[in-house]
Amino acid sequence: MNIESLVRRNIRELVPYSTARDECGLESGIFLDANESPFNNGFNRYPDPAQKKLKQIYSEVTGISSENLFAGNGSDEAIDLLIRVFCEPGADNIVTISPTYGMYRTAAAVNNISCTEVPLETDFSLNPQRVLNACCAETKIIFLCSPNNPTGNLLNKESVETIIINFRGVVVVDEAYIDFSGDRGFAGKVNLYPNLVILRTLSKAWGMAGLRVGFAVSSAPLISILGKVKYPYNVNILSQQKAVALLKRGNKSQLDAVISERERVISELRQIPDVVEIFPSDANFLLVRFKDSKEVFCRLLESGIIVRDRSSAEGCRGALRIGIGTRSENTILLERLRGAGSGRALSLLCKQRSTAETMISVKIDPEGNLENEVSTGIPFFNHMLEQIPVHGGFSMQLWAGGDLENGPHHTIEDVAIVLGDALSEMVASVPGNNRYGFSLPMDESSASVLIDTGGRAYLKWEVDFPSLNVEGVESDMFRHFFDSLSRSMKATIHVKAGGINAHHVAEAVFKAFARSLRTALSTSGNDSKIQSSKGVL
Ligand code: PMP
Repeated sequence: MNIESLVRRNIRELVPYSTARDECGLESGIFLDANESPFNNGFNRYPDPAQKKLKQIYSEVTGISSENLFAGNGSDEAIDLLIRVFCEPGADNIVTISPTYGMYRTAAAVNNISCTEVPLETDFSLNPQRVLNACCAETKIIFLCSPNNPTGNLLNKESVETIIINFRGVVVVDEAYIDFSGDRGFAGKVNLYPNLVILRTLSKAWGMAGLRVGFAVSSAPLISILGKVKYPYNVNILSQQKAVALLKRGNKSQLDAVISERERVISELRQIPDVVEIFPSDANFLLVRFKDSKEVFCRLLESGIIVRDRSSAEGCRGALRIGIGTRSENTILLERLRGAGSGRALSLLCKQRSTAETMISVKIDPEGNLENEVSTGIPFFNHMLEQIPVHGGFSMQLWAGGDLENGPHHTIEDVAIVLGDALSEMVASVPGNNRYGFSLPMDESSASVLIDTGGRAYLKWEVDFPSLNVEGVESDMFRHFFDSLSRSMKATIHVKAGGINAHHVAEAVFKAFARSLRTALSTSGNDSKIQSSKGVL
């Protein structure tokens, strides 16, 4: 099949916009060609329009050759571009299945292209003949989604292949959720079928929805047509850099965690009387039919749990689409579905901060229902931060992704800024006086921490570390951490500590700090129970 002949004539004849950097081909030199600012701040130059590094690392991770890859601002960009490349507005149409991901229809409508939806069978399987029968001479693209959203099931491979072989236009198979299925999908077949396009995304199993990076995988001629039509700099520098870094880091443990949680949630849901049916899932969500989905939806919402109501989608009456969260999030969900703990609102405090150097996210539950998780990439710093929720009497999930190749400085400082911001908000919700203190011995070491949460930032640091380095972290970094923390918490913090073992000194400081905090959060001196956090958010 000659793919060029399927392309709209104006696109076929298009002379693409050529970027200044494309024309010179040089990667270094004195760049006076693109009217950029010459002052280097990391972002003064345009990003690589061909996203070479990003494609190279994605290619290494997936085994898909770079020449078969188009990178876009999410896979949503590829959906829109495919329609614009192949469908003549007001004349052509697309065919898709129902229910499925809504963007195929929306992107078609934006481009004045009509969309025919072919219902899946009652078990949500694909009937290839029904799809082919719905096509006419003006049908230019068939959009399939496997595993399908919102039904969660992988489409039968022979059925998909029947459509690819028999359709005289482009077949798109959206594999946004393929990593959760254990199946390799169709990416390996793009050189066999020139009319086949696979969509992949970093938004799901790779955890980068905020970066907006997705891929189309296809034969080289089709990829080069998408490259002609896209905005020249469609993936920004930050997204390209972070995506490369996170792809290098890998996603195996998170992927395994989601898959094993999916199985746990399924088996727990089976025991819940309100649940009528759990559809099999190859994705990171479950489609679940309830006796009264509206009531369940509202009950969850009241508890601060947001799921997607799919009850009006074809064949999905009474069904909610529920994403798989962390173990503790899923446990809270299941508890609410069982009807336990109803009426008690979750009052999570969530703070995020993203700079050129780091991305930090902190989630605190003053009620202590989250499972504590700390991940900064700096093992000893993790160990210290873990002390804060345990001894502070709340629960916390903290994640930091930073430029550790330049040392831990940025990560430690930025964690202090975000954490301090969250702690300040939590403490402010508690009435009462604002001066607290705690002294704590730890073997031969001891620490005493006094806090005044009254709004004035000041750090007094009288800590004698017996060495300049504690388990790989410069001891001065701890002073720096508490200095930044006192500023973002808007608190006066006095720390006095000493001992023979540097590890013990640091740990005693973090524990004493957390214990002071605990008294700050306690109700009139009774620190066995945390104050209600209503009004925190
Ligand atoms: N395809 C499917 C099936 C999806 O469910 C989604 C997002 N929910 C997307 C594509 C969009 O992905 P991206 O974030 O890469 O635009």
